[in-house]
Amino acid sequence: MTIDERALRPSATFPPETIHEIQRAALEGLYAIRGNGAKRYVPSFDDLLFHGASMSRYPLEGYRERCATDVRLGTRHAKKPLHLEIPITIAGMSFGALGANAKEALGRAATMMGTSTTTGDGGMTEEERRASKHLVYQLLPSRYGMNPDHLRAADAIEVVVGQGAKPGGGGMLLGQKISPRVAAMRTLPEGVDQRSACRHPDWTGPDDLAIKILELREITAWQKPIYVKIGGARPYYDTALAVKAGADVVVLDGMQGGTAATQDVFIEHVGLPTLACLRQAVEALQELDMHRKVQLIVSGGIRSGADVAKALAMGADAVSIGMAALIALNCNRPLHEEDYEALGTRPGYCHHCHTGRCPVGITTQDPELEARLDPETGARQVRNYLQTLTMEAQTLARANGKSHVHNLEPEDLVALTVEAAAMAGVPLAGTSWIPGR
Ligand code: SF4
Repeated sequence: MTIDERALRPSATFPPETIHEIQRAALEGLYAIRGNGAKRYVPSFDDLLFHGASMSRYPLEGYRERCATDVRLGTRHAKKPLHLEIPITIAGMSFGALGANAKEALGRAATMMGTSTTTGDGGMTEEERRASKHLVYQLLPSRYGMNPDHLRAADAIEVVVGQGAKPGGGGMLLGQKISPRVAAMRTLPEGVDQRSACRHPDWTGPDDLAIKILELREITAWQKPIYVKIGGARPYYDTALAVKAGADVVVLDGMQGGTAATQDVFIEHVGLPTLACLRQAVEALQELDMHRKVQLIVSGGIRSGADVAKALAMGADAVSIGMAALIALNCNRPLHEEDYEALGTRPGYCHHCHTGRCPVGITTQDPELEARLDPETGARQVRNYLQTLTMEAQTLARANGKSHVHNLEPEDLVALTVEAAAMAGVPLAGTSWIPGR
């Protein structure tokens, strides 16, 4: 009997991917671990639009009128705030999760564009430090690779309290990625699975964090900005507490943020969408009279210049990219397709960073695979991508009559859905209605 495709009706409750997951769990008795970010739909910057300008607003001329993009981060207490040429930074991704070539490529690209990149769990590599003009050093709960000399060698310090893909949880580094070099940097045994801690060992709350921040300022002679990175859990209170603890910069990572490896159930079911996080964080800063005094960097699903411009319009000072930078480096590009197949996936669907068998040489410690990523070529691609994001954000700012991307404001935005209007705190398109106000 031939099957009539039109008669095949998938169940909304048990679609094929749910059936697959139940049967996988039935065979293995373990939760699924994967890399990448949430795959489910959540309201996002795609649900916002700019008004643009016509009669009531006057646009700027793209070819003749300047639209500036620079940003200063860490102006609250640091003697040497970072002055970046663009408001797009590269997020913390660890050496271990990523190979050394990928870390170097990101550093080189950031330097070419006058922006910063960030270390991650596992410490600072020499290549990364050499390549990066502005390098932010992450202080993580695990303390893997933590080195006080690296604190001093960095240009800013980011105390990581949480991450958007797994707020309240720690990451994982599976044994296949713990090469001799990774093991030596983290003082771990080679080839053994590791879990990162989900909270710092030496402090338990915001009062302790204030002491830790003070300690970091003393170690670095009050020169370097201290960032506090939070996952999108309870962004209003978490932002306020980070400010109270003395942060110069709050980095807020929404649930669309990526990870190299954690439980799928965490990635898809914990945390708030970036859109919802951002408005609450801005409100907390405004209520404390700290908006623009403590800078806000937002990350989690930033892909285009439109996302950048919308985040700035909602009140962020800068954005940070992680997954998108890896995609610019060739993640999910149709190269070496037989290796995607060996992982049980295809280009466009890959989330297999945890395996250490990255077909394009980004999230691997295998020398043969890593050789597929040339740091110079990779850097050029990420540089081109950052340049495109910047030009797109400038184009949108000019179209709204702004001579600096930071002059974009919520008033320039409308929402396409009631949900997005409520989350972003901007009117539903064609109305003056902001749900909940
Ligand atoms: S292509 Fe590499 S970096 Fe991209 S999702 Fe797959 S394993 Fe991860």
